[in-house]
Order: sequence, then structure tokens, then C-alpha cells
Amino acid sequence: MPQIIKPHDFNYIKEQTYHLINAYQSVNDPRTIATFEGLIEEKINRRLKEKYEKVDLFLEQVMTPSMTKTRADSYLSQLQTEVLPLEQPSDKQIQKCFRKVKKLKIPDISKWELTRYSYLSWTDSGSQKKYMMAPINQQFVGLYGHFEPSIKKGICAVCQHEANVSLFLTTTKAGADGSYTKKGNYICVDSDQCNYQLTSLKGITEFFARYQGK
Ligand SMILES: [Zn+2]
Repeated sequence: MPQIIKPHDFNYIKEQTYHLINAYQSVNDPRTIATFEGLIEEKINRRLKEKYEKVDLFLEQVMTPSMTKTRADSYLSQLQTEVLPLEQPSDKQIQKCFRKVKKLKIPDISKWELTRYSYLSWTDSGSQKKYMMAPINQQFVGLYGHFEPSIKKGICAVCQHEANVSLFLTTTKAGADGSYTKKGNYICVDSDQCNYQLTSLKGITEFFARYQGK
């Protein structure tokens, strides 16, 4: 079986690594440290479901009490080269996701660093509409809407981390009578940041399911 680290798995490894460094900086007892190291390793292995040589090597590199965030970041960027990028949708796939949008402006996704993205999002500068696309069950699905102007600190429904969030509203078809309802969720205002801190696909999958009325 090919070894695959997806962008959100990489973010998870990064998050766990930072927890580890925090422990190194705040705990002195070697036995507590050893227990914590074991726990982190177990969590990462459980997430990846199998042994990864490159991940084992990474853990070996960072698991030392003198580890700093700067050094860990350089090991993390080496590990990032192993990440399987998000599939790049073709223009046709993008159009298919937003069939009802007239004059859809398609961004140049070839320039995006797709090893860092679990979903795609961009804002149309004219209409201020925000577009979101994600592969759900191996197929790209899309939705669009707009943000309410006020921004606050809160938990994002997509990445499930604390961030600057705003109410994202989209109009969605509901029921057989063809009536429309507005649905809203607080999500990260900065989608790049959202992708960089997304450690699980649960939020994004549920988010899209809600909008598709499933
Ligand atoms: Zn987010």
C-alpha cells in the first residue's frame, strides 16, 4: 500500500509536534516527558493507521528535550515534501460545481501550493461572493455565499479551531416545494489560515453535507 500523508494529517502532525515542544519547555520530569512522547507517537501512528518510515524519522528528529520550534519547523518542511497534494480540479470540474453561476471567474489553481489545502476557496472581488470546493466522497462539490461584515473570535465550523470567524451565509434550496432558506455557519474569514490549521476532514465534510441538505 502506498504511504500517503494528506494535508490535514500533516497539520495534525504539526499540531502534535507543537504540543510536544510546549511540554519540553514546561515539564522537567524525564518520566513525564517520556510518557508524553509515547502518547504523541501513538496519536500520530493511530491517525496514519500504519507505520511510515519518513514519519518515524521525523519523530526521532524532533523528540529531544532541547527541540525548538524553529528547528522543528525545518524538519516539518522536510516532511511536507511527502504530503499528497489536494487534487487539482480542471476548469470543467469547477464549472460543474457552480453550474448556476453566470460568468464564473475561475481562479488559477495551478499556482496554489496544494500540499497545504484540504479544500479550495476564493472570493470574487466584484460580487464579494465566496466560493468553496472540496472533494467529498471522491467527487468535487461546491457551494457559495457571502460573509456577514462583522468578525469575531470563535470556533470555525470547517477547521474546528479558534480563529477570526464570520457568519457565512448561503441560500440553499429546501424541500420539494422549491422554497429557499438561508443557512449560516461561523467559519474562518481567512481560508488559507483555515486550511493550514485543519487537522480533520470531519468539519468540512459535515459543512458541505449541511448545505447539500443531506
Ligand atoms: Zn477554519
